Amino acid sequence: MKTVEKIADMKRLRQQLTGDIGFVPTMGYLHEGHLSLVRQAKTENPSIVVSIFVNPTQFGPQEDFKNYPRDTKRDLTMLEKEKTDIVFMPSVTEMYPPGFSSWVEVEKLTRQLEGASRPGHFRGVTTVVAKLFNIVQPTRAYFGQKDAQQIAVISKMAADLDMNTEVIALPTIREPDGLAMSSRNTYLNPAERRAATILYHALTLAQKLWFEGERNAERLRQQMTDLIQREPLATVDYVSIANSKTLDELEIVTPPVLLSMAVKIGKTRLIDNIVFR
Ligand code: AMP
Repeated sequence: MKTVEKIADMKRLRQQLTGDIGFVPTMGYLHEGHLSLVRQAKTENPSIVVSIFVNPTQFGPQEDFKNYPRDTKRDLTMLEKEKTDIVFMPSVTEMYPPGFSSWVEVEKLTRQLEGASRPGHFRGVTTVVAKLFNIVQPTRAYFGQKDAQQIAVISKMAADLDMNTEVIALPTIREPDGLAMSSRNTYLNPAERRAATILYHALTLAQKLWFEGERNAERLRQQMTDLIQREPLATVDYVSIANSKTLDELEIVTPPVLLSMAVKIGKTRLIDNIVFR
């Protein structure tokens, strides 16, 4: 496994690889969710590249960029075990040198949900992913369904800008009690960690009501919100029932539907979703 910090070195190594390249962009502090992407990339491509870069431009001024968990040594040990070929881990100034002034922005799909709660977030995401795609030139790039809107936005960017990378979405990996794995789960104290399962409970409640025949989106949103609000450590940011392609809110629940939410548990903001197809 090679680790590279410079863009020029990454590009040079890229030129030496032949055949398909699978790419998994991450912000590090890896868990089984990330590794599921790495393993799938490995089965579909002769070479794989993983990036570790905590991207400052996708964090708001009041967000956790400074405190975002980092443990490069542990990450590299995990990636070595998965037989990763190259780990690209640039510095912030390598990716954003002084004078950097070009941005990639997807309209419309970035207005709702995470885009509404975190202004500028997706502009940072699409810019860094476009840069990474240009540097790594992967055949396929793998993303987690956990960040459903991110997948929609990146797929749109890749299609609109004729990028040569296929964007692949893979299922959310969960803890045994249903909590979606996330590097941010490490912020939770034991009581918060127990409370955090409320996100998954709200999603499974909606799924149950849907199976029982409930088709009124507002009633489902209300039931989910009520359940979450009964958890004293939880504060709802949004609960959404939207068309999974357009991300527009629905009145009548007709698939394909994305049920998604952002909930603060204590000070930690968590997101989760499921899709009805
Ligand atoms: P992050 O390091 O949080 O930026 O995530 C890097 C990639 O891993 C993104 O495509 C995420 O959607 C994906 N990911 C994060 N958590 C999970 C999870 N629990 N299951 C599957 N993929 C995940």
